[in-house]
Parts: sequence; structure tokens; C-alpha cells
Amino acid sequence: MDTIADNLQGVKSRIRGACERAGREPRDIVLVAVSKTFPADDLRAARAAGQRVFGESYVQEAIGKIAALADLDLEWHFIGPVQSNKTREIAAHFDWVQSIERLKIAERLSAQRPAGRRPLDVLLQVNISGEATKSGVAPADLVPLARAVARLPNLRLRGLMAIPEPTEDMALAQARFESVRRLKESLCAEGLALDTLSMGMTGDLEAAIAAGATMVRVGTAIFGERRKH
Ligand SMILES: *Cc1c(COP(=O)(O)O)cnc(C)c1O
Repeated sequence: MDTIADNLQGVKSRIRGACERAGREPRDIVLVAVSKTFPADDLRAARAAGQRVFGESYVQEAIGKIAALADLDLEWHFIGPVQSNKTREIAAHFDWVQSIERLKIAERLSAQRPAGRRPLDVLLQVNISGEATKSGVAPADLVPLARAVARLPNLRLRGLMAIPEPTEDMALAQARFESVRRLKESLCAEGLALDTLSMGMTGDLEAAIAAGATMVRVGTAIFGERRKH
């Protein structure tokens, strides 16, 4: 239990250090604690240490935790691949979806957002490494997708999310993150009001913050190594 609190302090101090070097303010960075594969009690420990925002990748697993932790005031982000047959549950249980890469999925989430709930905050996941295996919309297809998603009534398009290919080369990581920031700036220049850049994980959050991330998604450095799902 103490380790989660200590780990959270460690991640926050990394965020502070990166902000200092970049001339940015730590309060401008949202920390999403990525809790996939970890039990509800670990999230409870993180909440007791001050963490309120959690990211999950597997719908059924997440819904169990959301129910188990309903007594806490938490914000839930869906960060995994969205399958069409899961959109109804995602729209009902989550506050954010960071991994939109197709209009059809966005349309379903908008249509299935329960009446009376505020619009679902969404990010478009962009593929900046260009690998065939990585998910995300290609930069060339981003503008039409963003325009269409921004028009959906029960979604609020907030920005972009990206997961570059893993690398030890932090200069390369930062260059990739900067290309995501430029994509967001080009969408803003098209008149879209975007305020969120979700990029940076345990291995590369400093490079992401240097490049302008406003949200980092950190799992391993908070909860420890994951076993395979
Ligand atoms: C698992 C996951 C993370 C967290 O990765 P760590 O390296 O454990 O910090 C962040 N983003 C997404 C989309 C993930 O699936």
C-alpha cells in the first residue's frame, strides 16, 4: 500500500522536474494513473494518496472496478482499443475516451451516451510512428475525422492522444511528441478548440512534457510491473 503512495510521489516529482526544465507549470499536466490489470484495492490506495483520474484498457475489467469503487469520486478514462460491440458500456461508464480512431465508433459513443450525462470527453488517437501494427488515425486522415467528431452532439472533442513506438532515444521520442503537438496546433488553426495532448508514459513522460503534453498516462511507475493480460 505504501509503495503506491511512494510511487505516486516519485511520478509527481518526475513531472515537476520535467516542468521545471521546460518552463511549464505542474498544474497544467493531468496525471492519468493507468490501472489496467491491477485490483480495485490498488486504486483505492492510489485514491487515498490523492490520485483521482484512472485509465483502463479492458472494458469488462474496468466495469468491475468502477462498480467496486463507486463510493469514491473518480474520473475514468478509457485508453484501449474500442470495439463496436463495447461502445454502449464505454459510453455508460466512462468520463473520457482517449482512443478514438474511426468515425463509426465516435458516432456510436455519441448515440449511446446516456441521457442526462454530460458529453463524453474524447481524444483522437494518432499514429505517429507509421507502423502497420500500431493503432491510431494516420495524420493525413486526421482533419476530416476531427471535423466530423467535433460535430457529434454527445461528445466533446478535447484533443489528441499518441503512443509512439518505444525507444530509448529520448531525443527521438521528443521529436515524435512534437509532431503530435504540431498536429494539434494545425487542428486549432482550423478552428477546433482543443486543449488536451495526452502523451507520455512511464518510460518517456519527460520527453512528452518537454514537447507540450498536457496529460500523461502512467502505469508501471505507479502500480509496478504488469503481468500479461
Ligand atoms: C498501458 C498503457 C499506458 C501505461 O504504460 P506504462 O508504460 O505502464 O506507464 C499508457 N497508455 C496506454 C494507452 C496504455 O495502454
